[in-house]
Amino acid sequence: MAETYEVIVVGGGFAGVEAATKLGRVGVRTLLVDVHGYHQFQPLLYQLATAQIGVSELARPLRSIFRNQPSVRVLTARVAAVDPAGRTITLTDGTVYEADDALIVACGAEANFFDTPGARENAYPLYSATDATRLGSKLVALLDQADKDNGQKPMNVAVVGAGPTGVETAGAIADAINYVVPKLFVGDLAKRCSVALVDMVDRTLGGFSKKSQAYAASRLVERGVRLKLGSAVTEVRPDGLSFADGATMDADLVIWAGGLKAGPLLRESGMPQGRGGRIDVAKDLTVPGYEGVYVLGDAANITDDRDERLPQLGSVAKQSGAWAARNILAQRAGRPTEPFGYKDRGYMAMIGRGSAVAELGRSRRLVRGPGAFLVWLAVHLALLSGASQKARALVSWIFAYLSHSRQHVFVGSPEQADVQGSDRPAA
Ligand SMILES: Cc1cc2nc3c(=O)[nH]c(=O)nc-3n(C[C@H](O)[C@H](O)[C@H](O)COP(=O)(O)OP(=O)(O)OC[C@H]3O[C@@H](n4cnc5c(N)ncnc54)[C@H](O)[C@@H]3O)c2cc1C
Repeated sequence: MAETYEVIVVGGGFAGVEAATKLGRVGVRTLLVDVHGYHQFQPLLYQLATAQIGVSELARPLRSIFRNQPSVRVLTARVAAVDPAGRTITLTDGTVYEADDALIVACGAEANFFDTPGARENAYPLYSATDATRLGSKLVALLDQADKDNGQKPMNVAVVGAGPTGVETAGAIADAINYVVPKLFVGDLAKRCSVALVDMVDRTLGGFSKKSQAYAASRLVERGVRLKLGSAVTEVRPDGLSFADGATMDADLVIWAGGLKAGPLLRESGMPQGRGGRIDVAKDLTVPGYEGVYVLGDAANITDDRDERLPQLGSVAKQSGAWAARNILAQRAGRPTEPFGYKDRGYMAMIGRGSAVAELGRSRRLVRGPGAFLVWLAVHLALLSGASQKARALVSWIFAYLSHSRQHVFVGSPEQADVQGSDRPAA
């Protein structure tokens, strides 16, 4: 017979942790299952990949998060299947758990390669701490190789996707080329390094205002980032990219920041999938037709009170987790559930040292430059989980900013940096 819990939460990301925390605070018997034993802060993955912070700043053990909440059991395991009709989950070893009151599916998303030939085989995604570590190791291996070749070999990086993730990643690599490489390598290696940002649309930071887009583009170009916008990537080769307009680009490393889609767990759940393979949820975050089943965060298509689709953001995931917990508690008390009330605090993106853009609140008040840079740092520090993670991140940022150097290392051989060594989910 299946072991039962009052609530089962699949996924220990922003949404799952927030929901379990709120439920645990009032003693609801909750099972939180994540394939990793840790919560990872995805907005800083590009900083992990460029060694600005270390993995222990970005990832926090789930057991540590819930150490004072005895009603929450953390289980490190991969969920192989969810059955929304029976509110059960099945682990890869066949163990089944059943939820009496509610099943929360908050399993995030995975990179969407849009069936681009060669992308899955040759491009590095940036969606987990493992991805970021692999990418960082590859960057270091390429720099070491270019350094050894003494004046011959270039190091060209191409970032596919000019949304916030692509912009932040390209900006961070450009800063590393401009400030860190000259300091840590002798000779003119930095002059042989380049980074390009490419996208099929003709602008950076889609979803932001035109002013922010123009600001981001100008700051990237100022840093030496080559922009190739307005032409789709048609193939990712081991040595570069091909484009729909017939152009090609040499690249020793291709980073994929080209979009997200639902993972296999949702595809096989039988729940109706909408845009991006995500589950279209009702206003109260439940799945229509399945009582007590909630899908949250990146796994869901969530709309706000104006019926506009909310983006895949940490703030949406976190707030949806809190709201689902609130609705579950209402349900248990015999009260009706309520439509999700999203508090829109705006968007922000880091472009690099001293440059960021923030559009604050629902009115999208624009802040750019060093002011936005400081706002970005403060907001991300506040959002990081755990006091010691915050303290370490602050020290790392100050060190990286003042020293133009890096104190974090990637442990592992260069071979482990091979994209084929990826633990990415199967297609
Ligand atoms: C590189 C990057 C940069 C970003 N930058 C920003 C930013 O600056 N600001 C912002 O607001 N948002 C940002 N985001 C988006 C934000 O991080 C996501 O919207 C948010 O993490 C989604 O939270 P979630 O809880 O839905 O999913 P996730 O955080 O992805 O968590 C899902 C969890 O489910 C687990 N899981 C998945 N499948 C299974 C399974 N089968 N069994 C068990 N466990 C499973 C995973 O291990 C993971 O821990 C960024 C995202 C990325 C990738």
